[in-house]
This record gives sequence, structure tokens and C-alpha cells, in this order.
Amino acid sequence: MELVNNVICPFCGTLCDDIVCKVEDNEVVGTFNACIIGHSKFVHAEGAMRYTKPLLRKDGEFVEISYDEAIEKAAQILVDAQRPLMYGWSCTECEAQAAGMALAEDVRAIIDNTASVCHGPSLLAVHDTGYPVCTLGEVKNRADIVVYWGCNPFHAHPRHMARHAFARGFFRERGRSDRTVIVVDPRKSDTAKLADIHLQLDYNKDYELVDAMRSILMGHDVLYDEVAGIPKDQIVGAVEALKEAQFGILFFGMGITHSLGKHRNIDTAIMMVQDLNNFAKWTLIPMRGHYNVNGFNQVCTWESGYPFCVDYATGTPRYNPGETGSNDVLQNKEADAMMVVASDPGAHFPQRALERMAEIPVIAVEPHRTPTTVMADLIIPPAIVGIEAEGTAYRMDGVPLKMKKVVKTDLLSDLEIMEKILEKAKEIRASK
Ligand code: SF4
Repeated sequence: MELVNNVICPFCGTLCDDIVCKVEDNEVVGTFNACIIGHSKFVHAEGAMRYTKPLLRKDGEFVEISYDEAIEKAAQILVDAQRPLMYGWSCTECEAQAAGMALAEDVRAIIDNTASVCHGPSLLAVHDTGYPVCTLGEVKNRADIVVYWGCNPFHAHPRHMARHAFARGFFRERGRSDRTVIVVDPRKSDTAKLADIHLQLDYNKDYELVDAMRSILMGHDVLYDEVAGIPKDQIVGAVEALKEAQFGILFFGMGITHSLGKHRNIDTAIMMVQDLNNFAKWTLIPMRGHYNVNGFNQVCTWESGYPFCVDYATGTPRYNPGETGSNDVLQNKEADAMMVVASDPGAHFPQRALERMAEIPVIAVEPHRTPTTVMADLIIPPAIVGIEAEGTAYRMDGVPLKMKKVVKTDLLSDLEIMEKILEKAKEIRASK
């Protein structure tokens, strides 16, 4: 048995970089340091649900085909389509994402990632109000007030608190004891149970609560006895605690990005962090879910100037979330072909979008059986980045990390698949 050290976990946006993998007969048979979710990803990379050959649907049944045939078929579908959609990208490396951008430009597709159904409102808010971010290392070493708003890392990012928010750091030698933890959540979640202060607001009242907190910060009175279901005294007490910070961090999740108000909630939350900087050092970090969802937004911005929902129909990038998002073009029945890479819209998109996916050719570049692959017409299995292929990923705080290859495989990587489809698409167009 071989031990591979300092492996980065390819599951959530925390990108833990201290995983040790036990490898036997070219298979990960165990891990040290990983949480239960990360461990499962490593040890269940193989198994009954894993695709090992490309599959094409013929007469309702999947038949095995070669990689060359699958690449040619995928290129043909994208070239033939009038409004191809290329969606996903959050569970693969930046290099494959960049190759995907080149392919989208070549076939004049709409390219979008899972942010359009998670932290898209955060990206829109960042356009309006900026991004006072810091690194998770600064949180570990400096933060004395930690706010989790609309997120439940206890279950969604299980090592986030232990490694960063509660950990012993340079200026926080006693770890959790040196920090005040505030959780804002309508539910008494397992994260909320660990908090010093739990602001248990009413559902969909995030905007009202942030607004009241900003009013208090600016020295105004709040005219009501309670806001968002929280007594005024408790809100005033929480704001006083925020003002007293030496270094404060606001982590926020989909509980606030997708409650009523969406990106306006994040606008005002960012402005609250800016207001807090009149009193103390304050920063924020979105709790990104998929391990490289942030990477796509970075790559997409370098390549096109926009972070997601980019439409190359005219040959130049155009960006208008609400019109050029995946759900927009699916539900409007604009998209006439779809390539899904490293994500599972079949499990997460609304019914009307799925109905459109069922009507059009769907290519799934995906290692495992998922609700998306079940409805796909063509499945191309890639090597799994971070286990079978290396590549770059961006942590939730924007720090890029190099993912390791732990075991060998004969499967093509996402990067190789994208490059080959691009090459073939160019050939097909040249021969027309
Ligand atoms: S917290 Fe996230 S990155 Fe860390 S081991 Fe668990 S799943 Fe992997």
C-alpha cells in the first residue's frame, strides 16, 4: 500500500489540502483527514455507477462507442445546432474550463456554469458594490468574529469550521475560545447550535434584517420592536458585537442569495461589510459549493470579460443573466442542443428546463451515472480531476491550488476531451 500526502479534496469549495490517500492496486482504498463527503468521493471513484466507455443512445438503448466516435458525434451536434448551450464546469479543472471557453467561442454557444443556480446573485452584487474578500488563512490567523449567514457548513462544508473559522491561528491561539460566532439562519441548524449568537430570522427577511443592522451601524434608530422576527434589542446587541471586532468575516451561502431579494440581499450585505470597515476590519467570503465553481467564474472572466451566462452567438461575448442563463434559454426553448460538463442539471434544474433537455440532443461529459446522464444521448466519461488527473482549482476565497493525480487511468481528461472536440468542430466547419 502506498500513502499519497498533501492531496487536495475535489469535493467542496473548502478544497482541503491536507488529505492523505491510501492507494492499493491503483485504487484509493482509504483516506486520512478527509470528512465523510470527501472520503466518499475518493473511495467511490470506481464502482458500479462509473462509466468506462463512451455511450451513444441508439433506438432508446445505450451502445458502447470509441472515444473518436464520441468526439466526432459531440462536435457534429454542437456545429449543427443554432443555439448550443454548454453548461456545468464546476467539478473540473481550470485548464478544461479554458478549453471549453475556446470551444464555446468556436461553435458560438452559450456557456454558463452552476453559479447561475447558486451564487449567481453574489456575482451580480459584486458588479454593483465590490468584493471586500480575504483568504481563509487570514480568517484562521486573525478573525475574532465569524458570521455564517444563510449557510450550514456543519453539513455542506464539514471541515470549514475546524480548519479555518474555529482553528487555532497566529493571533487566535485558543482557537474557538478566541472567537465569537454568529449564525443567521431561520432554522436551528447544527451550525447554529455551535454559535454564541443565533439570529433566527423569519424566512425571506434577510434584506430587512441587513437594512436594520446598517441603520443601527449608521447611528439611526429602528422604529419597530422587532425586525424580521428578531427583537430589536438582540439586533442592536449583535451590531455592537460586530463593531467591536478586530477582524470580522462574513461567510454567506444560498440561504441569503436565494431568499426573496436575491442579489439585492448581497448588495446590501456587501455594503454592510463596507460600513463595518468604519469601525473595524471586516471582509466576506461566499461559501462556494462545487470545488471549482469559483474557478469557472475566474476563467470565464479572463476569457470573455464576464463570469457566467456568456452568449457567443454573434461571435463576441454578450452577457445578460435573465436572458443568457441556462434556465432562460432552456425554458424559452431557445437552446437546441446542450453539452453538460462536470455537473448534474438533471438533478437540480426546474421541470420546464428538464422538459426542454428531454427534447434536444444532450451530451454529458460525466464520470458517473446521474439523472443527467440517464436523459443524455451521448455520454463521454472523463478521468476524475483531483484523483485521476491533475489541474488547477480555485478555493472559495479565490486562492488557486494545484490538484494532484493520485491514481492512473486510461480515460481521457476533461481537458483532452474539450481540445479534441474543438479540433473536430473546426474540421467539420472547414469541410462545409
Ligand atoms: S470539507 Fe470539503 S474539501 Fe474538505 S474534505 Fe470535506 S468535502 Fe473535501
